Amino acid sequence: MNKSFVSAMALSILSAAALSSSTALAQSAYDQQFVNYPTYSGADLELSVDNSGTHFRLWSPKAQQAVVLIYNTGHGGDAIENIKMDFDPATGTWSASSPDKLYGKFYTFRVLYDGKWLDETPGVWAKAVGVNGNRAAIVNLDNTDPNGWNADKGPKVDNFSDVIVYEMHHRDMSMHPSSGIANKGKFLALTEPSTTSPQGLATGIDHLKELGVTHVHILPSYDYNSVDEANPQFNQYNWGYDPLNYNAPEGSYSTNPNDPESRIREMKEMVKALHDAGIGVIMDVVYNHTADNDGSNFNLTAPGYYHRHWDDGKYSDASGCGNETASDRLQMRDFIVNSVKYWADEYHIDGFRFDLMAIHDIDTMNEVAAELKKINPSIFVYGEGWTAGDSPLAPERRALKENVSKMTDIAVFSDDIRDAVKGHYTNAADRGFATGKPGQEETVKIGIVAATAHPQVDYTKGNNSKFPYAKSPEMIVNYVSCHDDLMLTDKLRKSMPEESDSVRQAAAKLAQTIIFTSQGTPFMFAGEEIFRDKQGVHNSYKSPDSINAIDWNLKARNIDLFNYYKGLIALRKNHPAFRMTTADDIAKHLVFDKIDAAKTPNLISYSLKDHANGDEWKEIKVIFNGADKAQSVKVAKGDWKIVAIDGKISPDADLGATKGGNMTIAPYSALILAKTGR
Ligand code: CA
Repeated sequence: MNKSFVSAMALSILSAAALSSSTALAQSAYDQQFVNYPTYSGADLELSVDNSGTHFRLWSPKAQQAVVLIYNTGHGGDAIENIKMDFDPATGTWSASSPDKLYGKFYTFRVLYDGKWLDETPGVWAKAVGVNGNRAAIVNLDNTDPNGWNADKGPKVDNFSDVIVYEMHHRDMSMHPSSGIANKGKFLALTEPSTTSPQGLATGIDHLKELGVTHVHILPSYDYNSVDEANPQFNQYNWGYDPLNYNAPEGSYSTNPNDPESRIREMKEMVKALHDAGIGVIMDVVYNHTADNDGSNFNLTAPGYYHRHWDDGKYSDASGCGNETASDRLQMRDFIVNSVKYWADEYHIDGFRFDLMAIHDIDTMNEVAAELKKINPSIFVYGEGWTAGDSPLAPERRALKENVSKMTDIAVFSDDIRDAVKGHYTNAADRGFATGKPGQEETVKIGIVAATAHPQVDYTKGNNSKFPYAKSPEMIVNYVSCHDDLMLTDKLRKSMPEESDSVRQAAAKLAQTIIFTSQGTPFMFAGEEIFRDKQGVHNSYKSPDSINAIDWNLKARNIDLFNYYKGLIALRKNHPAFRMTTADDIAKHLVFDKIDAAKTPNLISYSLKDHANGDEWKEIKVIFNGADKAQSVKVAKGDWKIVAIDGKISPDADLGATKGGNMTIAPYSALILAKTGR
């Protein structure tokens, strides 16, 4: 899905109304019809199996009749049974039972609505599905658990600023012949130990361990619509932002999409392998819209209810994909909350990244975070704090970036630091602070302090945000690139066309040094640590593997860059000063040096003082030079050890010593110094 105009759109909407509280929370005329709908969120929704047999319970308050059809196969063939369902007006549900345990069978529902039988649907709660997700499957989930699953646990997270996120797509990581991975494009790819590139360097899960990230964020891995699972030989690629069945894994990532247990078991095996490696698994979830409108499973069960509409009855489209869901309606809110709880419980998922989170309302997101915390306090929830179009949901109710302080235990992406560091995402040629564009300093500083209130940061000069919207650094995810828009390598090539790749790599190092030393949670895109590119394709959501797959030969070629990323990550992990947990701490311990940006642009210098956040180092000096020429900064006299200089980094501060004074910083580079003594 193309979200390339998202931020600009969100901003224009925001400036108009985001923080006005005068708008009443009145429901629209369209909403009125649902006011008295009964709701039901029991765990037996749609399917349950116990000793008395197999039980179906479909929520569809306005249906006139409902049936469940039983099949022997996941596609093709006629129904072997057609069971009439009985209505319970108190819960709005239709139920039917079979005295047998129907494991191995498949089912669909059909409802009579407005005098018309709608198409068959697997429902909205199918936890297992046949090929291409058209029929739900009846499986015993206990049979899908890998060995040792009961003892499986993700990494414990004390503070979300300790998390280091690596965003990846299953096919990107493993499809290239140089990956050395056998299960290419599959969940199982990340279960393979000791895979190497042709030059003998680690790939796959060993590469992740070597790099040191704490969590992988996997692009949509629920069952999505666009890849034909029945024809894997076509090698189709899609990011997966076109949800079909929210509670079952995508079949094309399994070794056998025809076997409903295969995708479940293999995804769990992936999670377990990552957990065994100490790495958490975050899922990208897209509850904000469905792939189809009238033909979506939501509409085939309870027409009109789950999506928002304008008062004229037309679908509203804040997702830019044709529709948007209605988290503000109770049954939809329960669906989202229970769905993430299911993934956390059944698949041991460690975090959720909400696509276009601002389509959801604040109350829903708060309930999501609160319920997940009960299951596992280490679960990290963050999202895109914007929409891709206008919504009937009032702006003050939206889970917008600017509303993040109204939420608890939720973080948002900082488009502030993203655009200020590398240049605006809508203009390929635009440069940023790290690539020589002046005037970005204050917005970068907003990123450095994680959008919290800081006495030395002037928010009126911010490009994207004009006030400190985060109450805590744990509300902010910092990044320069992700799957959307030009990824870092391509952005650097387009915006620095006259430069060599070695100069661009210097800029890449600087850009990521800013991200990984900033307060908040750092986030990176898979493969940028080895200077992977996507041949300049900014919206590669259905581009072939030849564009999207990571060429692991690049690791040997760009090993210096890889080692720099590794060093940056180790530095951050070893030093809590970069991971403060309160705005007060940041205001007190992070002190910017006075630099006149009008006279010496592209220069930022600050200190993390007095063993910030319990750091063993007394003071850390962080200096960024984003200009194409060397610049000098006056550093207070003292016994400094050098942590990073001119494209080199040592987490142990082993790059020499200096007494301070006037220090020169190479073009497009960071200088980090430490007073290591007590
Ligand atoms: Ca699918």
